[in-house]
Amino acid sequence: MKITDVKTYNLRYPLVEPFANSRGWTNARTAVVVEIRTDAGITGWGEGVSVPSASAVEAHLIGQSPFETERIWEAMRGDIGALSGIDIALWDIMGKALDMPIYQLLGGAFQLKIPAYASGLFKKDKPDITQALMDEAKGYVEAGFPAVKMKIGFGEAYDVENVAAVRRAIGDDTLFAVDANCGYDVGTAIDVGQKLLDYDLFWYEEPITSDDVAGYREIRHALKVRIAGGEMLKGRWAFRDLLQERGLDIVQPDLSIAGGFTECRKIAAMASANYVRVLPHMWGGSIRLAATLHWQATLPDAPQALNPIPSLLEFDMTENRLRTALAQQPIKCR
Ligand SMILES: [Mg+2]
Repeated sequence: MKITDVKTYNLRYPLVEPFANSRGWTNARTAVVVEIRTDAGITGWGEGVSVPSASAVEAHLIGQSPFETERIWEAMRGDIGALSGIDIALWDIMGKALDMPIYQLLGGAFQLKIPAYASGLFKKDKPDITQALMDEAKGYVEAGFPAVKMKIGFGEAYDVENVAAVRRAIGDDTLFAVDANCGYDVGTAIDVGQKLLDYDLFWYEEPITSDDVAGYREIRHALKVRIAGGEMLKGRWAFRDLLQERGLDIVQPDLSIAGGFTECRKIAAMASANYVRVLPHMWGGSIRLAATLHWQATLPDAPQALNPIPSLLEFDMTENRLRTALAQQPIKCR
């Protein structure tokens, strides 16, 4: 089987209601969808974050076997954001060619049902943001989510007031994570983090920028809470020091950013060797969600236990028709 054609679609969905994380407002959601066709009549679909160059497609994909994922990966590693979408599409072709789900090609699923956490609770332009966050959080608990994640990083006053309010709204039994999207420096991250410890956080995500490995170590030693991060990192080298230096308790590679299945399984192996938990990041369209489910199903409990720490799928609850209306059968959470 040979690759005959590669098309990319740069999709953009303008939001009805903009929202913000600590770094800025989001007015639209995007996805770079890749379609790879073969001479066997099989088409694969992937989702990345950048568009591959025409010269790279011509040189490294056209005429090649879609099964040679390692070779193609190494040839195209200069643009991992584009390669991520290509790699996901190649695995889709392999699965279709062998009539097997990708999780099986990856070595088999440890779980066919994955508990999901509601990822939302962004800042919005509301007259009473605290009440709005409480209502949103309560809705997630009523819908059956065992865990929720909220955006912080907007300053101590906002973070403490709203984390306290959301904890009250969700009760004591719901797992509660917070995400600062790299909005703090080390000192502020520790200072605010210490004030949030009263609210029993399951993890504290991206307190600072991902390349400050020493900073992550400082925060991790200063705070009695799991530290998570890594969603923006591309390629195994970007993850290496954070994992080896034990800067994280939870690493969150994103399939569509970090390099697709081919690379993310290597990152997961490196995390496992360093006893760091892998909880994939998922904030994108339908294809990324489907791919993430396949990969996450193949991650074993670590450690294996009678009552293991749950693997939680990041279920993006924000408005995005690239996730809810792009596929003919959108994935829903039950
Ligand atoms: Mg995040």
